[in-house]
Amino acid sequence: MDLTKVSGIGFVGLGAMGLPMAGHLANKLPSHIRLYVYDINQASVDQLHSDYPDRVIKASSAKNVADQSEIILTMLPEGKHVRSVYMGGDSETICSSDVSGKLLLDCSTIDTASSLAVKDYINEKFPTASFYDAPVSGGVVGAQKASIAFFLGCGDSDPNLPHLIKLVQLMGKDVIPCGGPSKGLAAKLSNNYLSGVIAIAVSEAMDMGMRSGLDPRVLAKVYAAGTAQNTICDRFCPVPGVYAEAPSSKGYTNGFKVQLMRKDFSLALEMAQRVGAQNVLGEAGLATYDGASKDPRCVDLDSRVVYRYLGGDEDWLTKIDGDATAASTLNGH
Ligand code: NAD
Repeated sequence: MDLTKVSGIGFVGLGAMGLPMAGHLANKLPSHIRLYVYDINQASVDQLHSDYPDRVIKASSAKNVADQSEIILTMLPEGKHVRSVYMGGDSETICSSDVSGKLLLDCSTIDTASSLAVKDYINEKFPTASFYDAPVSGGVVGAQKASIAFFLGCGDSDPNLPHLIKLVQLMGKDVIPCGGPSKGLAAKLSNNYLSGVIAIAVSEAMDMGMRSGLDPRVLAKVYAAGTAQNTICDRFCPVPGVYAEAPSSKGYTNGFKVQLMRKDFSLALEMAQRVGAQNVLGEAGLATYDGASKDPRCVDLDSRVVYRYLGGDEDWLTKIDGDATAASTLNGH
């Protein structure tokens, strides 16, 4: 669907991710396009409208959004919310509107079964509508900076792909078509499983090295030069004070919340089970994220707080500096 021929775009779900994403659309879409928005939390709808009064129109329901938009995006917490917003029992859902010929894009991270159920429902009721899973990666800061990546549930030859790319690049950077329906989600869950396991492994490896007397900055250099090189250690190091820009160095704030990692990890395990994939690290990983999500020292913080949860030393720098001072005093004698 060519953006130059579109007059209305809809956005349902203006939360931590959806609000900045919709803000980029309001800011960057061609001036003739209106943005119709809805959230059960009226405050975020009001906020977006007051930021872009000429561009953003407050809608009264998800159906009301769909009635007025040729392209509809959703950014909701879980599969049950996505099911209910598209095809729930009441008359205010997206599919209560006639969405024939429209483009629907769900950016939420949910289970593949819910996504496929919504797609099948839409295909049956509105054969000319196109529904895609389009989960994102990059966090709230990425959404604010328009640097998130999109994993699209479509193939390279999908006729809508060029339009989808143009649209989502207003809100992000990399766009990867993953091959077909629900494969964007399968890719995202597989990615988050891997990233979650690596964060636990880095935490454990750092902890054993540090307890053996090593400076974590030296360990990080060793991993980077050796076979253990990984982005979690390089850019999101779970040990505070190793990489200045990592959430851990800022009190584990401004990152990917541990409860969201728990949710994605659990969805990945469900997917693995459904497709019959071996998963020896899954149980321990889920127990770790589950425990950290419920731990008052970790809840609401960046998921790399598993280092704290697993008993890692966060005060190592003071001790090393203390040792250095003690050593220089000794040397001075
Ligand atoms: P959030 O809870 O901040 O926002 C969800 C929004 O959906 C809320 O504003 C809520 O009021 C709204 N909502 C819920 N039910 C609704 C309904 N029936 N009708 C209309 N609005 C409804 O969540 P978020 O952090 O923005 O995450 C959204 C999705 O993106 C999740 O699936 C999450 O896993 C995924 N995600 C989040 C991050 C992150 O760092 N926060 C990163 C990548 C992906």
